[in-house]
Amino acid sequence: MALLDRAIARLLPAVPRPLVQRISSRYIAGETVAEACRTVTQLNEQGRMATIDVLGEEISTPEAALEIVGAYHDVFEAIKSEHLDSNVSVKLTGLGLKLGYDLCKRNLQTVVRHAAESGNFVRIDMEDSSCTSDTLRMYRELREEGLDNVGVVLQAYLRRTIRDIRDLAPLRPNVRLCKGIYVEPPLIAYRDFDAVRENFVLCLRELLRKGSYVGIATHDKWLISEGLRLVGEHGLKPEEYEFQMLLGVSAAAGDRLIREGHRLRVYVPFGKHWYSYSMRRLQENPKIAGYIAADTFGRVLGRNGA
Ligand SMILES: Cc1cc2nc3c(=O)[nH]c(=O)nc-3n(C[C@H](O)[C@H](O)[C@H](O)COP(=O)(O)OP(=O)(O)OC[C@H]3O[C@@H](n4cnc5c(N)ncnc54)[C@H](O)[C@@H]3O)c2cc1C
Repeated sequence: MALLDRAIARLLPAVPRPLVQRISSRYIAGETVAEACRTVTQLNEQGRMATIDVLGEEISTPEAALEIVGAYHDVFEAIKSEHLDSNVSVKLTGLGLKLGYDLCKRNLQTVVRHAAESGNFVRIDMEDSSCTSDTLRMYRELREEGLDNVGVVLQAYLRRTIRDIRDLAPLRPNVRLCKGIYVEPPLIAYRDFDAVRENFVLCLRELLRKGSYVGIATHDKWLISEGLRLVGEHGLKPEEYEFQMLLGVSAAAGDRLIREGHRLRVYVPFGKHWYSYSMRRLQENPKIAGYIAADTFGRVLGRNGA
């Protein structure tokens, strides 16, 4: 990231919410299930699969967590009735993890059972390191209860991830592998760009060796080509792995993968609780200064012209 962009990314928390909302709109499908479905329909028409995320990590009451559970129910109904090619992603904090492990587990079980009833699949996103052990424990418990339509996310920047892969291996987990987005201390996380890449490749190789289905979630061109090399080395067919990208990021790289016959799933977040997600996306956008400038000048010019 260039110096100016890095400085602006650090100042983002001071930026007014309406401006954050405007410049982050490319990353979010809208506030309603109908808007999310419209986006997924367009993605499906382009040959992309989707995973719908009901934004909710900022919730603070059991009632709000139940609302998120209800929203997922509506999403499954909509996916089914509109014949969309989409599964869902959930954040355990949105289902109440910080309000209590058992409450969150009950909510997750409900969502996973709703998914099973409509032949769908639930991916548990991975949040900051205060959630890692609980997330993996809950994933394991659900699998041991016989709920198989559920997968998890592992973050290549965490030093523990290679051990987690080995511990989870007997479950043959369905894993999304990503770099990881939260700011973690060097004691537990690789901070160096190349070290994270290197660990990503190590973890991917280990997951494939152990027979996991992997969602290779990255826009990093070098990692995409390493992913292609590894799935080729393992002789996998296109339906035995997938690439994953975020809505609003790297569309051209996604087009290339699809043209070459690989499967691509796009992460489609929607909902009222858009702020934290938007901040993370903006903070990792390498051209954030340009976005803010374009938005501001565009508005100024627009106002002058009116
Ligand atoms: C489908 C999916 C699900 C994810 N789920 C999780 C999760 O559960 N937990 C978690 O911690 N992280 C998650 N992430 C985020 C991930 O950890 C990274 O933070 C993010 O993908 C950026 O890393 P990268 O591998 O794309 O490499 P980077 O080196 O960060 O990015 C590569 C290039 O992609 C482009 N790019 C990346 N981000 C942006 C952006 N916001 N705006 C514009 N361009 C951008 C830029 O051109 C950049 O140079 C997910 C990512 C994806 C794709």
